[in-house]
Amino acid sequence: MALNQQSCQVFDAVVVGAGFSGLYMLHRLREAGYSVRVYEAADDVGGTWYWNRYPGARCDIESIYYNYTFSKEILDEWTWSSRYAEQPEILSYINFVADKLDLRRDIQFNTRITAARYNEESRNWEIRMEDGTLVAAEYFITALGCLSSSNIPKIKGLDSFKGEMYHTGRWPHKKVDFSGKRVGVIGTGSSGIQAIPVIAKEAGHLTVFQRTPQYSCPAQNHPLEAEEIRKTWENYDETKQQMRYSQHGVPYGPRMRSALEDSPEERERLYEKAWQEGGLFSLTYNYNDIAMVPESNETAASFIRSKIKQIVHDPEVAQKLMPTYYYATKRPIIDTNYFETYNRENVSLVDIKTAPIMEITPDGIKTTDNEYELDVLVFATGFDAMTGPLFKIDIRGKNDVSLKDKWADGAELKTYLGLATSGFPNMFMLTGPQSPSVLSNMMVSIEQHVDWVADCIDYLREHHLEAFEATEEAEAFWSHQCRAIADMSLLTKTDSWYMGANIDGKPRGFLAFAGGVGLYRLICDDIAARGYEGFASL
Ligand code: FAD
Repeated sequence: MALNQQSCQVFDAVVVGAGFSGLYMLHRLREAGYSVRVYEAADDVGGTWYWNRYPGARCDIESIYYNYTFSKEILDEWTWSSRYAEQPEILSYINFVADKLDLRRDIQFNTRITAARYNEESRNWEIRMEDGTLVAAEYFITALGCLSSSNIPKIKGLDSFKGEMYHTGRWPHKKVDFSGKRVGVIGTGSSGIQAIPVIAKEAGHLTVFQRTPQYSCPAQNHPLEAEEIRKTWENYDETKQQMRYSQHGVPYGPRMRSALEDSPEERERLYEKAWQEGGLFSLTYNYNDIAMVPESNETAASFIRSKIKQIVHDPEVAQKLMPTYYYATKRPIIDTNYFETYNRENVSLVDIKTAPIMEITPDGIKTTDNEYELDVLVFATGFDAMTGPLFKIDIRGKNDVSLKDKWADGAELKTYLGLATSGFPNMFMLTGPQSPSVLSNMMVSIEQHVDWVADCIDYLREHHLEAFEATEEAEAFWSHQCRAIADMSLLTKTDSWYMGANIDGKPRGFLAFAGGVGLYRLICDDIAARGYEGFASL
């Protein structure tokens, strides 16, 4: 793809993606005076919250912490209606920010980027759109999202289905009518668990096809009063600091105590309290070793299993819903009436681990022991996380090496700070693999990455450094650290999308930095303060 750069537009930076990451990146760079163009496949802003319009979609981090913190003005002008905001409200928030900062004028919508190649002579990135148009930029910044490449498993007969088919991550803009219909939901991850109770209320009959039973705790969602929100942000600077230097990006953390230090009665009391309070971290934050020590983990896991047993009336169904993997080694799930839904007359559960799906037929789903007639099929089958969206673009660095080839072996995936990778100069990956991103409140991770990249670009300009890349030594060190930290926990002991295990044929390897957002920020800041140690100019 040789490029005559006189014939195409050249920007200081091209950003791909107009979700929370891309929008803030645009704002930061534009404020600093750079020419920036954002390309977005959708026809509007929002990213995750544009695409995931399925019934029940909402955030799992408290709304008051799941927003930008870079502008006190934006914070003051917005209010959330409930503890966990629903998708339409989060999308309204993103639109509000895009309007307030007048971001759309630098975003080209309906534009999918298909390739990006580093030109070693011009020291520019050449970026190609789906329609073949090329642009060039000094900096190529991916804001593609960790969870934007939806996964539909390759099941025999998929195209033969005569009814309606949806993926939660590509939900239509108009309401899907389930009333009186026979609906099948495949998948019981976060999205499935949010959607199932809502669909069940409307459907004639709902059949849930479950591969892995999940631990889920009640969200205990409730309306928020404006006063409550105002109070939370009264100590704005302090709250922000607490979030930034925490483990997961929220202004609270685990008690510094092992689950094994408390008596069974005391543990039960604390877990019960946490269950009633609800929230993503409520159970795990009772102790600091739930995700580290198998015996501690089991105390929380068995508590949730006992809750499932209490809630679900049919003992056989309850048994099928009992998870056995280490709790919190997949992203914890919170729900509203998930387990209760299995007490409804119009809901049935099919365990596809014991009776796998053989094929999709024109009329429904055939498993090894039954056939289910369906009018609507909903795939809540998640995403090709982290690397998926990057690999959908043919990204080529120095010597025409493709990123996909460089990372072909998941165990050998190498980045520096999850932000950069050697051989790909002036390319930055917001919330990239081997950063804390998916293990955190993503808003905290997003703001930190954007700020770091914007400061880094300022530094390069100030020091007249045209091109700059991570060194092989630095990325080898970082990648080793990521694996070593993950291996100290139970995170790598479970087949999860953090490990690439949800995608057939995807190489296994832990895809995030598990040391926490606070430690990560300190490391990134330290590297910047040392003149971007671990990066070399070309
Ligand atoms: P995204 O919002 O995914 O945006 C990426 C954008 O890039 C998309 O609009 C996509 O269309 C675009 N894009 C990708 N590839 C291309 C291409 N080749 N060309 C052009 N455009 C492209 N995180 C939390 O912290 N808390 C939560 O409660 C939470 N809930 C979630 C619920 C769901 C259902 C999902 C799927 C994710 C959730 N997340 C949550 C994670 C969420 O993805 C992040 O919080 C955040 O929205 C990510 O923003 P982003 O801008 O980085 O990526």
